[in-house]
Amino acid sequence: MQCDTIKKGVECTFMTSGGCNYKQGQCHPVVDKCEGCERTHEFGGQLYCKSYADPAMKWVHSACNFATHVQATVDKSGRVKVNPIKASKRASKKR
Ligand code: SF4
Repeated sequence: MQCDTIKKGVECTFMTSGGCNYKQGQCHPVVDKCEGCERTHEFGGQLYCKSYADPAMKWVHSACNFATHVQATVDKSGRVKVNPIKASKRASKKR
Protein backbone atom coordinates (compact mmCIF):
# COMPACT_ATOMS: atom_id res chain seq x y z
CA MET A 1 0.00 0.00 0.00
CA GLN A 2 1.21 3.53 -0.68
CA CYS A 3 2.48 5.61 2.24
CA ASP A 4 0.38 8.60 3.21
CA THR A 5 2.45 9.80 6.15
CA ILE A 6 6.11 10.73 5.47
CA LYS A 7 7.05 9.06 2.15
CA LYS A 8 3.84 9.93 0.37
CA GLY A 9 3.22 7.81 -2.70
CA VAL A 10 5.96 5.23 -1.96
CA GLU A 11 4.85 1.59 -1.82
CA CYS A 12 5.36 0.32 1.73
CA THR A 13 4.62 -2.97 3.50
CA PHE A 14 4.00 -1.19 6.81
CA MET A 15 1.16 0.95 5.45
CA THR A 16 -2.35 -0.26 6.21
CA SER A 17 -5.79 1.23 5.80
CA GLY A 18 -5.53 2.20 9.48
CA GLY A 19 -2.24 4.05 8.97
CA CYS A 20 1.45 3.27 9.33
CA ASN A 21 2.11 0.06 11.23
CA TYR A 22 5.81 0.70 11.89
CA LYS A 23 7.19 1.60 15.34
CA GLN A 24 5.79 4.96 16.47
CA GLY A 25 3.71 5.10 13.29
CA GLN A 26 6.36 6.51 10.96
CA CYS A 27 9.76 6.03 9.28
CA HIS A 28 12.98 7.37 10.74
CA PRO A 29 15.41 9.71 8.91
CA VAL A 30 18.71 8.43 7.48
CA VAL A 31 21.86 8.38 9.63
CA ASP A 32 25.37 9.74 8.87
CA LYS A 33 26.54 6.38 7.51
CA CYS A 34 23.87 6.58 4.77
CA GLU A 35 25.54 9.65 3.26
CA GLY A 36 26.32 8.90 -0.40
CA CYS A 37 23.76 6.12 -0.75
CA GLU A 38 21.55 6.36 -3.83
CA ARG A 39 18.53 5.14 -1.86
CA THR A 40 18.24 8.35 0.17
CA HIS A 41 15.43 10.67 -0.85
CA GLU A 42 14.11 13.92 0.51
CA PHE A 43 10.57 13.96 1.87
CA GLY A 44 9.29 17.10 3.55
CA GLY A 45 12.76 18.66 3.80
CA GLN A 46 14.37 15.64 5.49
CA LEU A 47 16.28 12.68 4.04
CA TYR A 48 14.76 9.21 4.35
CA CYS A 49 15.68 5.82 2.94
CA LYS A 50 13.49 4.64 0.07
CA SER A 51 14.08 0.98 1.03
CA TYR A 52 14.03 0.81 4.81
CA ALA A 53 11.99 2.41 7.58
CA ASP A 54 14.72 2.66 10.23
CA PRO A 55 18.19 3.22 8.69
CA ALA A 56 20.00 3.28 12.06
CA MET A 57 19.00 -0.36 12.61
CA LYS A 58 20.60 -1.39 9.29
CA TRP A 59 24.00 -0.22 10.60
CA VAL A 60 23.93 -1.76 14.09
CA HIS A 61 25.93 -4.93 13.35
CA SER A 62 27.62 -4.26 10.02
CA ALA A 63 27.19 -2.26 6.85
CA CYS A 64 23.66 -1.88 5.51
CA ASN A 65 23.03 -4.64 2.97
CA PHE A 66 20.95 -2.28 0.81
CA ALA A 67 23.66 0.41 0.63
CA THR A 68 24.83 1.47 -2.82
CA HIS A 69 27.92 3.37 -1.61
CA VAL A 70 29.66 0.74 0.58
CA GLN A 71 30.11 -3.00 0.60
CA ALA A 72 30.79 -5.21 3.62
CA THR A 73 33.29 -8.04 3.35
CA VAL A 74 34.54 -10.52 5.94
CA ASP A 75 38.33 -10.92 6.23
CA LYS A 76 40.21 -14.12 7.13
CA SER A 77 39.89 -13.47 10.86
CA GLY A 78 36.11 -13.09 10.55
CA ARG A 79 36.05 -9.33 11.05
CA VAL A 80 33.63 -7.33 8.93
CA LYS A 81 35.26 -4.67 6.77
CA VAL A 82 33.32 -1.87 5.12
CA ASN A 83 34.68 -0.76 1.76
CA PRO A 84 33.48 2.30 -0.11
CA ILE A 85 32.29 1.63 -3.63
CA LYS A 86 33.90 4.11 -5.96
CA ALA A 87 31.61 6.19 -8.14
CA SER A 88 33.42 5.07 -11.30
CA LYS A 89 32.78 1.41 -10.39
CA ARG A 90 29.07 2.12 -9.90
CA ALA A 91 28.89 3.96 -13.22
CA SER A 92 30.51 1.07 -15.10
CA LYS A 93 28.01 -1.43 -13.64
CA LYS A 94 25.11 0.61 -15.03
CA ARG A 95 26.44 0.39 -18.60
S1 SF4 B 1 19.85 1.59 1.81
FE1 SF4 B 1 20.93 1.48 3.79
S2 SF4 B 1 22.64 2.93 3.55
FE2 SF4 B 1 21.15 3.39 1.93
S3 SF4 B 1 19.87 4.99 2.79
FE3 SF4 B 1 18.86 3.02 3.20
S4 SF4 B 1 19.55 2.44 5.26
FE4 SF4 B 1 20.94 4.03 4.51
